[in-house]
Amino acid sequence: MKVVYNEAQKRHYPKNFVSSGVVTQNPEMPERADRLFASALEAGLQHEVTVDQGLAGISAVHAPEYIEFLMGAHERWSHRKGASPEVIPNVHPGRNAPGYPRSVDGQAGYHMADTACPISAETWDAVKLSASTAVQATAHVLAGEPSVYALCRPPGHHAFADMAGGFCYVNNSGVAAQALRAVHDRVAILDVDLHHGNGTQGMFYHRPDVMTVSLHCDPARFYPFFWGHEGERGEGAGLGYNMNLPLARHSADDAFLAALDRGIDRIRAYAPGGLVVALGLDAYEGDPFGGLSVTTDGFARIAEKIAALRLPTVIVQEGGYLCDDLGRNLASFLTGFGAKHKV
Ligand SMILES: [Zn+2]
Repeated sequence: MKVVYNEAQKRHYPKNFVSSGVVTQNPEMPERADRLFASALEAGLQHEVTVDQGLAGISAVHAPEYIEFLMGAHERWSHRKGASPEVIPNVHPGRNAPGYPRSVDGQAGYHMADTACPISAETWDAVKLSASTAVQATAHVLAGEPSVYALCRPPGHHAFADMAGGFCYVNNSGVAAQALRAVHDRVAILDVDLHHGNGTQGMFYHRPDVMTVSLHCDPARFYPFFWGHEGERGEGAGLGYNMNLPLARHSADDAFLAALDRGIDRIRAYAPGGLVVALGLDAYEGDPFGGLSVTTDGFARIAEKIAALRLPTVIVQEGGYLCDDLGRNLASFLTGFGAKHKV
């Protein structure tokens, strides 16, 4: 299996994060990518360097004004007297705001769901390269490779068509799914990250051609709070093509695997031509977010079940934060997947 990745994705190094009202170091650190990359190589994957794939893949799933905002926000922001080094919103539109603001601070509130996705001078280039990683990996799968691992960083599944959030700017899994649609009539995204893939859900909520299935810690008391409940099933033509499988806090392997069986059954019945796995590793019992209690061996078992779908698969990196076993958990998933996957 190939691992697609470019070390320049590490240049994005967000500083700001607010947790329980305390400003602290943002946990989406470049070292995550170092550990994941080293582990992918140790697991026997072959490295292919990401080259810039342009804007087409991003534009296919994101709004033009949002892309323009991401590209230009930092420069516009830094012209303001006394501006912070990172774009961080301090206003939010709330539920009833009708207008689109012209100023960069208004647009920051409009386009950013929270303060966890600051924009520095280096952010856009890294975000674009991370999306290029997804595009390049998907091209290999479309050309006949059974599976490719896209080491996307920064991650993407909290990014909506016009809104960043939770360390995410461009929705790499959505980019990959849309690219698969060039060949396949139906595509599924299976999100096993600790957090609900709210951006991905929002992106495809009205569409029957991309099924979205997410397993995650119950959002009633966990980020992203406002999305990820079982009753959200899609709308309009998309009704029935979104499936949420929230799990009780600290659920371990058996509960996770039982929910995964339900998600996989639904995907099998949908009979997609291709699959995107939104691979977060933060459901791990030792992850600093402490939401679920999946073990290192559990990731191999999750991977084996997904591999049994026998679909052309793009594995897109999402969350998973610094802890001793981050690399081992990726290796466990990739090894489990590779051992069972045939198309
Ligand atoms: Zn996550």
